[in-house]
Amino acid sequence: MGRTTRTSQRAGRGWLGAPGAAARLAAVVDAAAERSPDIVTPYVRVAGNPDRATALLWSDIVADGAPVAEVWAHLRQGVVPDGASARHALLLLVIVDGWRRVKACDSPGCAAPFVDATPGASRRRCAAHARR
Ligand SMILES: [Zn+2]
Repeated sequence: MGRTTRTSQRAGRGWLGAPGAAARLAAVVDAAAERSPDIVTPYVRVAGNPDRATALLWSDIVADGAPVAEVWAHLRQGVVPDGASARHALLLLVIVDGWRRVKACDSPGCAAPFVDATPGASRRRCAAHARR
């Protein structure tokens, strides 16, 4: 894994092009969403319409008005201190892997939003229901 990552960085693709990058980004966003579900809830609601979800995410990021250099300095270290940073991380995830990892729990009566960080994007339940 380490060798593959270094190879892709030498090829100029950086860590976003490295194997497993989407799952790692998803894990960062999912951890933030577990603390505050509002970070992904609005986009899960329109998940059936990816263009609309992307437009909504982009307008939210613009409305945040967070200093991009600071946000990305955090993200490079895997740190997501606030909602604005989480939305930037989500945008990166969507660029790399689309909306397929942004999901609602399919446990009856739940529908809690979560971000699927499994390698094959096969998770179907929120953290609370995945443990049962
Ligand atoms: Zn659930």
